[in-house]
Amino acid sequence: GRRDLERLRSKPTRTLDGVDVALHANAESREDVARAHALGAAGVGLFRTEFLFLQRTELPDEDEQFQVYRDAVLGMSGRPVTFRTLDLGADKVDRTGLSLANEDNPALGVRGVRLSLLYDHVFDTQLRAIVRAAAYGPVRVLVPMVSCREEVVLVRRRLRRAVAAVRRRGVAVEAPPLGAMIEVPAAAIGVHGLADAVDFMSIGTNDLVQYLLAVDRNNDALGDLYSPLHPGVLRLLAHVIGAGEQHGKPVAVCGEMAGDPRLAPLLLALGLKEFSLHPSSLLELRRTIRDCRLGDLRSRAGQLLQARDRAAIERWLQAAGSL
Ligand code: PEP
Ligand code: MG
Repeated sequence: GRRDLERLRSKPTRTLDGVDVALHANAESREDVARAHALGAAGVGLFRTEFLFLQRTELPDEDEQFQVYRDAVLGMSGRPVTFRTLDLGADKVDRTGLSLANEDNPALGVRGVRLSLLYDHVFDTQLRAIVRAAAYGPVRVLVPMVSCREEVVLVRRRLRRAVAAVRRRGVAVEAPPLGAMIEVPAAAIGVHGLADAVDFMSIGTNDLVQYLLAVDRNNDALGDLYSPLHPGVLRLLAHVIGAGEQHGKPVAVCGEMAGDPRLAPLLLALGLKEFSLHPSSLLELRRTIRDCRLGDLRSRAGQLLQARDRAAIERWLQAAGSL
């Protein structure tokens, strides 16, 4: 019941066989950060900075952004906050005039990091605001919609410049770790090209599933075709998680999939050690993971990856006791 769940606020997220799993929170408001802290989240794994740009017509300036980012960092009292740089375009339409109007295929258009790289001034302003917040606690920078290594190299350069600019103002800061969202199929398949250019990775299954299956994430007419329970999706997840291990780069999943406790045994079987999810299901996920035996799940990963269809994946989950 609810009381049992509340008891888990101060408990570790540890499997029955003693392996610690990191549960980070997704946040898009001050309230989310407060909840993440209260629930014992390991950090904020996805701070959706675009919420600052929606519902308004004027861009937030550096100071306004800085204050919001700093408050999030202070709110987590020493646990890391992962700021995702502006992810506008496609399903995230703003009224500031930044997103391009009239693209034939907005989901394949100028969105995420592509938009940031189009507007130097907007991007540099945001990076400086994030870097300034890093003077108040651990911060990471996460870049959305990365499709190739070249984009990471460009962003790394811009981030270095932002750090230099902030230092020139007399603020002592280190460059924050830089990560890429893995949500474009080619970035996932070619993850070896990205893994050594970044410090960490976070798989955005919402978009990855959309692009991999060619199924619009917001089109209800497509019914349950939009699902992560597809053999191709699972294989790709296993590939990315494995590449992270090989390169010694932490990998999280921050899409909705990570927030569904029924799918936790599957993600653990594929080797995932870090989840980022909305605070509303954090305790439930912690409870599920505390009931899992990681060794058993890992030994059944091969069987999971052999599944031919959704029904077979669901049978695997049933056998794992979670459906
Ligand atoms: C994702 O794509 O999985 C993700 C976490 O980002 P968003 O849902 O904001 O696109
Ligand atoms: Mg996304």
